[in-house]
Amino acid sequence: MNVSDSEKVATVLEAEGYQLTDAEESADIFIFNTCSVREKAEHKLFTRIGQVRRDHSEERAMIGVMGCVAQLEGETLLKRAPGIDFVIGTKAVARISGAIENAARRRQPQIDLGEREDDYDWSVSPLQRHSPYVAFVPIIEGCNKFCTYCIVPFSRGREKSLPAAQILKYILDLKAEGIREVHLIGQNVNSYRPKTDAGLENHRGATPFSRLLRAVAATGIERIKFTTSFPRDFHPDIVDAIDEHENLCNWVHLPVQSGSNRILKAMRRGHDVDNYRRRIDKIRSSPREISLTTDLIVGFPGETDEDFEETMKLAEYCRFDSAYYFKYSPRPGTPAHELVDDVSPTVKKERCIELDRILRKSQRRSLESQVGRVRQVLVEGLSSRSDKVLNGHTTCHKIVNFEGPADCLGKIADVRITECKTNTLFGRII
Ligand code: SAH
Ligand code: SF4
Repeated sequence: MNVSDSEKVATVLEAEGYQLTDAEESADIFIFNTCSVREKAEHKLFTRIGQVRRDHSEERAMIGVMGCVAQLEGETLLKRAPGIDFVIGTKAVARISGAIENAARRRQPQIDLGEREDDYDWSVSPLQRHSPYVAFVPIIEGCNKFCTYCIVPFSRGREKSLPAAQILKYILDLKAEGIREVHLIGQNVNSYRPKTDAGLENHRGATPFSRLLRAVAATGIERIKFTTSFPRDFHPDIVDAIDEHENLCNWVHLPVQSGSNRILKAMRRGHDVDNYRRRIDKIRSSPREISLTTDLIVGFPGETDEDFEETMKLAEYCRFDSAYYFKYSPRPGTPAHELVDDVSPTVKKERCIELDRILRKSQRRSLESQVGRVRQVLVEGLSSRSDKVLNGHTTCHKIVNFEGPADCLGKIADVRITECKTNTLFGRII
């Protein structure tokens, strides 16, 4: 989501005549796009602002903060990090150039946390995309779930689904422009619930999201990936849609957070272990070998050794193809922040090591199972180490490195997987 937001802001500013630069030393404006999901990211922001202030004290570059920390902290940011020129909330990014101009003209910090203009056009300019072949397509913003540990509903506001007709038109434009893969993105894509049916009338499906998936598949764009899915709203029909349409990629990211019913309840996730397992069984029964990834939180308040054992058991059962895990980080303003953070840092660390062992084992098994198989890889770039080595993603979002001619870039190549070394796949183009 954050990369997508940065792309949008770069597009807005480019249209106003600003230029994006990699050369920090010559930049006139620094804009920090922030995340507040865990405390560590917030700390990093203040360190980076201090660095820029030190390195650019003479020529006085402008500094702005956008994203979740901006939305949550607003004016207090100016006190915590003096020298900030503008603060733009998650709903106000469309007005960023106004804030920059006002800050420069009035020589006074500007803060805009206001409401977003509903009809704003969020298409991203080709120049600002992270890849010339892959594009992010936001379909739902915000979150209504209020899991007890999570700051997102406070920093991003309530769920708002974008109209399907607008999404489909954008995807058709991207296809005409040569984009080969789209990623439908949102905090919980499968909670998609637009106000009207426009764009979905001709597509059957059990939920608006599975209808949207079928409608996007019908645009004929070559590959469609989507992330993140919320377990409670993960209808089996999503798997049926993947089975029916080759261009819906065989990858599902379904964060489980914990394998203990007691902890899931305290997290207010709205699902228990049984219904999560049922979803996994449906995914695993697909003839398309759907790759399954997840997020887990270690050391939520009150997590006992038994609760953690349950998480380990569930991880073994699910055989995740890949997973992210995070130590619980108390976020001020969330209900869990009122609970005692009673799992000691040492225990959190030990549990992370144990979980990592299981997760690595299943990731390794999943990668090794690819050896000898032919996979379709969207060739996205050259390796940083050699200009003969290309890399790209498979349909199930695994990265593959392989030797091949540079004119393959942007094409979908058949690659035979020959080797799996320290969690990376290597192959040969055929
Ligand atoms: N909407 C998605 C995930 C959004 S945040 C979902 O419901 O799964 C991305 C991940 O950050 C979460 O899946 C969770 O694992 C992690 N996370 C969120 N808040 C956290 C906290 N307070 N401490 C540690 N990890 C957290
Ligand atoms: Fe946070 Fe839960 Fe919403 Fe995901 S679903 S963004 S974890 S509140």
